[in-house]
Amino acid sequence: MNRKEFIEKSLITMLGISNLSTLQHLDGELSFFESTMPVFFMGHGSPMNGIEQNSFSKEWAKTASTLPTPRAIICISAHWETKGTKITAMQNPKTIHDFGGFPQELFNVQYPAKGSPKIAGEASNYSKNYPIQLDHEWGLDHGCWTVIRHMYPKANIPVLQLSIDYTKDMNYHYQLGKAIAGLRQKGILFIGSGNMVHNLGRIDWQKMNVKNYGFDWAIEMNEIFKKKIEDQDHLPLIQYKSLGKSALLAIPTPEHYIPLLYVLGMQSKKESASLFNDEYVAGSLSMTSIKIS
Ligand code: ZN
Repeated sequence: MNRKEFIEKSLITMLGISNLSTLQHLDGELSFFESTMPVFFMGHGSPMNGIEQNSFSKEWAKTASTLPTPRAIICISAHWETKGTKITAMQNPKTIHDFGGFPQELFNVQYPAKGSPKIAGEASNYSKNYPIQLDHEWGLDHGCWTVIRHMYPKANIPVLQLSIDYTKDMNYHYQLGKAIAGLRQKGILFIGSGNMVHNLGRIDWQKMNVKNYGFDWAIEMNEIFKKKIEDQDHLPLIQYKSLGKSALLAIPTPEHYIPLLYVLGMQSKKESASLFNDEYVAGSLSMTSIKIS
């Protein structure tokens, strides 16, 4: 019997419980999780979703209400690109308002979730082949907090961010996701936050408030992404540039797409992906989100 099994058996005897999930709130070495946490890709869209009660943000809140309580969240946000992969390792990450031209109300938002230097350390040492540096400067950017504040409005779950190394190719991001997926069994909820179709240069501002308005190329591409996600056909998604001209319109720069690759990398063969918030905004954005479980 190894140490974990010994502690596990002792606790079951001591506490007279039959279900290990009862222990999930115990931290550190005494944390046992019966099940693997799901993984999400969230289309985050406009920063205004952070303060609006709309169909997208309501779905984020609903989603969280169905989950076991995570030990911590690690969010891969489109809005943190670095040289080398980093993870936030401070006790109290600051709320970053990394946008301009929005109402003061949005700048006033604070999301005071704690960080976790301990979990940052665990993640940084998790895979020898994919080193992750500890970061003490960043915090929670809007790719992260605009979504998570709807999921966990009490800010009572520690939140860490994992950066996107802009020097690496698409396969690296997919493989890094795969390499750290085991943390899902340790109570970590991973959220990739971006947008599958994201072309700000092509936004039709006149259609901003027209529900579910997408350009033909955006719809064409989003449908291809969804089909390949549902079929677990990940290779063409990693090599998205080979998917044709519409792919390059949907992904003019890759930072909002890359969080999806982490999420897909974390999927095991026996898991499936379910879709939600599957809508277009202003022609050139898709909010399509997935839950893998
Ligand atoms: Zn964004």
